[in-house]
Amino acid sequence: MPSLFPDITHQHNACIESAKTRAFKLAEDAGKKFGANQVRVLEALLQDHRAASAYEIVERMAESGKRLQPVQVYRALDTLMELGLVHRVQSINAYVACTTEDACHNPQLLFCSSCKRVAELANNTISALISKTAKQSQFKLEYGLVELVGLCPDCTDA
Ligand SMILES: [Zn+2]
Ligand SMILES: [Zn+2]
Ligand SMILES: [Zn+2]
Repeated sequence: MPSLFPDITHQHNACIESAKTRAFKLAEDAGKKFGANQVRVLEALLQDHRAASAYEIVERMAESGKRLQPVQVYRALDTLMELGLVHRVQSINAYVACTTEDACHNPQLLFCSSCKRVAELANNTISALISKTAKQSQFKLEYGLVELVGLCPDCTDA
């Protein structure tokens, strides 16, 4: 099985384009209209596959000449997370743009603690098992994202 992390053959420009196309489609399907801030925050996160804190997002945007207040960044992140376009990496309180298909709500995140890159498993069998187990234990699940912390292939070799 190939690595889920982008390797040297990875076409990141194409990756950004398809993520944006998907984002606009999902927003439209949900009857939401993207404001300029949402698009900018998403673009800042799509720069690479690393998780970034809200503060880092503000900095990335400032570098490209678009200044936003942290509160505006948080508001944009809320909408993006609601749509399943951005995920929160809880353990480091950072955010990452989702690069899978369709609406993505409870993925399994593979977080590399060395380079901070994030890949997604989005394994439906695991998600279904979590929902089923929660239901059986009369637990009303609101948030079922799973975070797996470790080292990506690049960081294991180093
Ligand atoms: Zn990419
Ligand atoms: Zn996702
Ligand atoms: Zn790594």
